[in-house]
Amino acid sequence: MSDAITIDDIRQARQRIAGMIRETPLVHSAALSSATGREIYLKYEHLQITGSFKLRGATNAIRSLSSDAREKGVIGVSTGNHGRGLAHAAQQMDTRCIICMSELVPSNKVEAIRGEGAEIVITGRSQDEAQKEVDRRVEEDGMTMLPPFDHADVIAGQGTLALEMLEDLPELGTVIVPLSGGGLIAGIALAMKSVNPDIRVVGVSMERGAAMIESLRAGKPVEVAELPTLADSLGGGIGLANRYTFDIVKRHVDEVITLTEAEIADAIRHAYWQERQVIEGSGSVGIGALLTEKVRPQGPTVALLSGCNIDMALHKRIIDGENVDLEAETTGGDAVNA
Ligand SMILES: *Cc1c(COP(=O)(O)O)cnc(C)c1O
Repeated sequence: MSDAITIDDIRQARQRIAGMIRETPLVHSAALSSATGREIYLKYEHLQITGSFKLRGATNAIRSLSSDAREKGVIGVSTGNHGRGLAHAAQQMDTRCIICMSELVPSNKVEAIRGEGAEIVITGRSQDEAQKEVDRRVEEDGMTMLPPFDHADVIAGQGTLALEMLEDLPELGTVIVPLSGGGLIAGIALAMKSVNPDIRVVGVSMERGAAMIESLRAGKPVEVAELPTLADSLGGGIGLANRYTFDIVKRHVDEVITLTEAEIADAIRHAYWQERQVIEGSGSVGIGALLTEKVRPQGPTVALLSGCNIDMALHKRIIDGENVDLEAETTGGDAVNA
């Protein structure tokens, strides 16, 4: 199955989405380079339109639809950033868009998606549960479901990040990528390994509910509980009927690691005070992997900053040094919506 996506698909995706997404800067980090004794660069994808890379995959997927399918509209399930990207891409292409999401999605993200012109449906306590609602509407209305990660055009769209990184840093040796459902790292790993198999690709998840890592350990896709975490964009399952990302990650990703909530908070603080960037928890885990020395960089190393969509009141508490524990703040299971 994973052989279905090639570097050519990723190159075509780049042409297809050109002018509709930003090509984001690769920036040398003096602070992380001196902390690690290596040359460390940061891919500023948090500066992407809609605040995350999800716009790349969504734009590529919608542009790849037939005009008939585009007329009936698109529908997706999302922990936030996919919905935002899909809604924005759909609006750019005058396409109807419905987004279903779980109750754990922070309110700032819900409003952001609504602001992009999508119709919102809130249902269930996990991405997999919200998916069932989507399936029903696909059946009834003939809309096209575009998933956040397990889709060839989405993976190819995310893979365009690798082409940009390799252009800016041809001697790249290690790339560190936030990991949830694996669409981002699958696209990047496919592109990197086909250009140079020696490039190391490392995935980083949070300890709380790392669905892909649990699945790799089990040897097959498994379900995990979705728990409140600072890396909320990394929540959700990989889907028991996973078609692409599990195989691609298993074959092409060299190493996966996890971070604690305190380590994610430290990474958000580093991003702010040292790099002067506002990064959401999920987007900062590459920095955390370096600061904790859980990843040993080989050669010039890029940490991908994947998104900026954090609740700013929460961000302020973290950068002011507060020891935020979202699980302790949970009352009736509504931790991050407060
Ligand atoms: C979706 C997302 C990820 C994880 O991407 P996957 O393709 O699901 O692995 C990482 N960071 C941010 C900011 C995201 O929105």
